[in-house]
Amino acid sequence: MYSDLLVDSKFFRFLTVCDADLAEEARRAGCRHCAGRLHRSNYPRKPRGGPEAIIPDPILRDSFCCDRDGCRRRLTPESLRFLGRRVYLGTAVLLLSVLESGPGRSKARALEATVGVSVRTLRRWRRWWQSIFPRTRFWIAARARFRSPVEEGNLPRSVFDRFGANLDHLPDGIGDPLAADLSTPVVQLLRWLSPLSVASSLWCQFPEGREIDPSFPQRMPDAGTEAAS
Ligand SMILES: [Zn+2]
Repeated sequence: MYSDLLVDSKFFRFLTVCDADLAEEARRAGCRHCAGRLHRSNYPRKPRGGPEAIIPDPILRDSFCCDRDGCRRRLTPESLRFLGRRVYLGTAVLLLSVLESGPGRSKARALEATVGVSVRTLRRWRRWWQSIFPRTRFWIAARARFRSPVEEGNLPRSVFDRFGANLDHLPDGIGDPLAADLSTPVVQLLRWLSPLSVASSLWCQFPEGREIDPSFPQRMPDAGTEAAS
């Protein structure tokens, strides 16, 4: 079962290696605002929703600062482990939301207790996937690349299915950092979602043309609460 990944320490280590690769790619590319070099400036995060026994407390989020005077901007690369500022790991936000919306609901309930996700939090995630996610810059750009329209009322399960993932079948080797294959559907999906780990992709467009950053609760109470969990 795909849900086994939520408590699989090897899979978490594999995602950590993927994040290290993304960070190195970003470091090599340098500052996006000037020609400055990037210096490592990681910061601590205390994520929930994973195998507590193996997640160091806290874990470090890869991040960099430009070394040029007058710029000094921070660059935080995309990540497969984190989904924006959410406290919970991206794998939990994705897989528990998928399970909750389909026949795997009882499995989701059992896992909520294991990884410490309340029903209330799960409801917030569902609202985020169905009300906020479809309005993000990321989704507005990405949805056009599907051959046929994705059912937004059934997110995130509808994109999970499009990536060819099957909840009941976990490909061999996915939990092994050495054997894990980047082409397996859930890894591809986490990679596809990884721009959401960077704030600019979370900005939302609303019909009247305004844009709102859903990570600021004072500007948008509902979405802000969700961004925090
Ligand atoms: Zn710079």
